[in-house]
Amino acid sequence: MILEKAYAKLNLFLDVENKRPNGYHGIVSLMQTVDWCDNIYMQKNVSGEITISADSCNVPSGRDNVAYRAAESYLKAAAASGGVDIRIEKSIPVAAGMAGGSADAAAVLRGMNRLYDNRLSISELLELGKSIGADVPFCLLGGTKLARGIGEELSDCDHGFPDCVIVCAKLGEGISTPEAYRLLDEKHDNFRARRIRAEDLQTLLDGMKQNDAVSASRGFFNVFEEVIGALRPSVEIAKKVLLENGAFAAMMSGSGPSVFGLFRKEVEAEVAVQALISKGAQAKVCRPIPHV
Ligand code: ATP
Repeated sequence: MILEKAYAKLNLFLDVENKRPNGYHGIVSLMQTVDWCDNIYMQKNVSGEITISADSCNVPSGRDNVAYRAAESYLKAAAASGGVDIRIEKSIPVAAGMAGGSADAAAVLRGMNRLYDNRLSISELLELGKSIGADVPFCLLGGTKLARGIGEELSDCDHGFPDCVIVCAKLGEGISTPEAYRLLDEKHDNFRARRIRAEDLQTLLDGMKQNDAVSASRGFFNVFEEVIGALRPSVEIAKKVLLENGAFAAMMSGSGPSVFGLFRKEVEAEVAVQALISKGAQAKVCRPIPHV
C-alpha cells in the first residue's frame, strides 16, 4: 500500500486573455500549492479492476471519480495490466476552486507510476494529465508556477512565493467551473477585447523577487471574483472575517467560492480559522509549499 498526498492550489493571479473558437478560455495564472491535502492510498489488486472509495459523500465513488480516469488512462498509456484499489481521504473542500479533483488525479498518476516502476517519464505524465484536466499538469509538479494556455503551459517563476501564513476557507455552496465561465463570458462579452491585468501580475512577481509577501499581495487579482461574489455572498463574508482578524490581503481562489487570506502571525490565523468555522466554513491554516 502506498500513500500519495494530493495538495490543493490557490490562484494568486487569475485572468482570462481570450475565448477560443472551441470554447476553451486562454488564461494567465500564477498558481501556488498549499499544504491542504487529500490522502490517496493505492494498492495493486488481483481482480484486475480499478476500485475507488472516498470517505466523503460529496465526491463520487467508482468511474465518475476523476481518480478513476487517471488510473485508467495510466494503465492504457503504460501498456500495463492489472488493477488498483484507491482510497481517497478527502480533506480539500469540493467544488471550491482549489483543484481538489485535479490534485487527486495528479496524485493517482504519480502513485501509479510508483506502483509500475516509473514506466512513464514526467513529460509523459504531464501529457496524460493534460488529457484529464487543465489543472492536472500543475498539480503533478506543484510549487509556484505561471500557467498559460488553458492552464497546462507551465513555467517556473524565478522566485517562489515568500513563506507566510495563509488561511484557506470555503464558506457556502460551491459553483461548477463551467457555470462560472458562462457568467464570466456574459460579463466580458466573450472576451472579444480583453487586455489582462499585466501590471498586477508584475507587482506580484516583483514582490516575490523581493521576498516580500505584503508587496506581492498588492498584485493579487482574480477575474472571477466580481461575478462569483455577486452570486455568492459567502465570498465577501469570508473575506471580511479574514480581514477583520488581521489578514493583510484576502482574495477568492479559482472560480470560487474558496477564499484565502495572508497573515503575519500564526496566532491571528488560528483565530480567523475559528471565526470562519463558527460561521460554518471549512477552514485551515496553510503554508505555501515549493514542490510536491
Ligand atoms: P478546479 O479548481 O480545478 O476548478 P474545483 O476545486 O472547483 O476544481 P473539484 O473539487 O475538483 O472542483 O470538484 C469538481 C467536481 O468534480 C465536483 O462536483 C465533484 O463531485 C467531482 N469530482 C470527481 N472526482 C473528484 C475528486 N476526486 N475530488 C473532488 N471532486 C471530484
